[in-house]
Amino acid sequence: MHGLMMQGQLTLTGIMRHAQENFSTREIVSITADNPRHRYTYGEAFERAGQLASALQKLGAQPGDCIGTLAWNDHRHFELYYATSCSGLVCHTINPRLFTEQIAYIIQHAEDRWLFIDPAFVPVVESIAASLPGVKGFVILCDQAQMPATTLRNTICYEALLTGEPSGFSWPELNEQSAAALCYTSGTTGNPKGVLYSHRAMTLHTYGVLMPNAFSLQEYEAVMPVVPMFHVNAWSLPYAAPVMGAKLVLPGPKMGCGETLCALIQEENVNVAAGVPTVWLALLQYLRETAQEVPSLQRVIVGGAACPWSIMQEFEKRHGVYTHHAWGMTEMSPLGTFNGWLPENIQPQERRRRRLKQGRAAFGVEMRIVDDSGKRLPHDGIAFGALQVRGPWICERYFKSEASALTTDGWFDTGDVATIDADGYLGITDRTKDVIKSGGEWISSIELENIAVAMPEIREAAVIGIAHEKWDERPLLVVVPTPGAAVDTTEILDRFHGKVARWWIPDDCLVVETIPHTATGKISKKDLRIQLADYRWPETLSA
Ligand code: AMP
Repeated sequence: MHGLMMQGQLTLTGIMRHAQENFSTREIVSITADNPRHRYTYGEAFERAGQLASALQKLGAQPGDCIGTLAWNDHRHFELYYATSCSGLVCHTINPRLFTEQIAYIIQHAEDRWLFIDPAFVPVVESIAASLPGVKGFVILCDQAQMPATTLRNTICYEALLTGEPSGFSWPELNEQSAAALCYTSGTTGNPKGVLYSHRAMTLHTYGVLMPNAFSLQEYEAVMPVVPMFHVNAWSLPYAAPVMGAKLVLPGPKMGCGETLCALIQEENVNVAAGVPTVWLALLQYLRETAQEVPSLQRVIVGGAACPWSIMQEFEKRHGVYTHHAWGMTEMSPLGTFNGWLPENIQPQERRRRRLKQGRAAFGVEMRIVDDSGKRLPHDGIAFGALQVRGPWICERYFKSEASALTTDGWFDTGDVATIDADGYLGITDRTKDVIKSGGEWISSIELENIAVAMPEIREAAVIGIAHEKWDERPLLVVVPTPGAAVDTTEILDRFHGKVARWWIPDDCLVVETIPHTATGKISKKDLRIQLADYRWPETLSA
């Protein structure tokens, strides 16, 4: 027997309408190339999104067309999100930090009709324009006065495009299964793959993100996504904030700048912020060096890469800020797990153990770990295997691919290696491609990195497997020192004793000036391996 309830469609238009009716006076504050502090309301933002949707129709955009964006986190990008998705177009966010060949490939593959570009990315697009015959024109995200000189054909100024468009756009009633947004994975091997998000998936994901044991946003909060809007929809914050009426603070091109992040937090009373560990290193370093405080900041959501204990400690001890560790991926919209509040009465050792985990599955996500033959492994916190997931906001098939992305029994293989304990806490130990296998046994590079970055003289650390005559592979620790600190590599390796099994301890420690990062701010082990291609174990260690 069927239930007898209405078939309301779960669409991003629903989010927009809800915010328009309830929170039209709440603010969006952005930094843009042409304005150090742009400020307006959700009401104004959605009005302009309607004008943009109308302009896109006049430009000939047809339902289902992909509209590409190469843009920072700011109010115009926010307008683009809604104008495209809610008018039946697909918002294709492109990561401008990718190699230009990959950007060209992505634009061609998605068949983007129009590209909306921040002035800063005009040179990148100019360099590949010849390979983009399918793109009808380029809209530059600025006002007339800031229009750059460019060799791009058919360029339009964003503000000029909106001028004169009527207010009160009539948004279509969309099917919840229709495509809303598109984001390509960074592509560690082969070409990047497109993840095509539906309105339904994005709406359900927004509910999941907003749960009290997840981002838990409230109306009178101010949230600052320091995760780019070109990477998995800034972890859904441009959807979640308007649902709750939270103020949205968008740092534009200044995401890696500790000074700007500090100023935004202080001046806009930001109390929630989200981003990868690297941005928090930049903020914490700035706060340390300038002895500044960020009293409004209450919680920071850290994901995209394992959050070192040192970041959690410094936030908590110096600034009274609670860090929540989260895990997810492009294919998961992205939220998979979240490490919520822990009660005060948990013993310090146990607190630390649990907080370093990536957290529990968001409601809507199921997880399992399996061995090489696909057999389920126990959730005992010890066994580790390939992490697989399923749920309504997880990718089933990549864009334009005929093949399913799932296992024969319907799970998505994340490419991560993990443990799950009896309380459901996920512990990511590695990426399948990054695991170090020494004498046939796995060593967790993440655990070793966490130990290293907890040392005050180490700013950043990565552990990679290096071929070894006897053991196949052995771990090598690569560190970037904290500015001004002296590093004694023997002593650093000594400090691993008692913290991990003896055979896990890296055989050597290399001090470098920088460790390469991916376009999304994570340590790029692939590039690090290339950088260290000539590294050889010292004579005494090679056999
Ligand atoms: P992306 O699709 O580019 O966002 O990358 C997703 C991948 O980032 C995951 O599959 C993990 O390997 C890694 N990742 C994300 N969050 C975490 C985390 N909290 N701890 C460790 N790895 C993470």
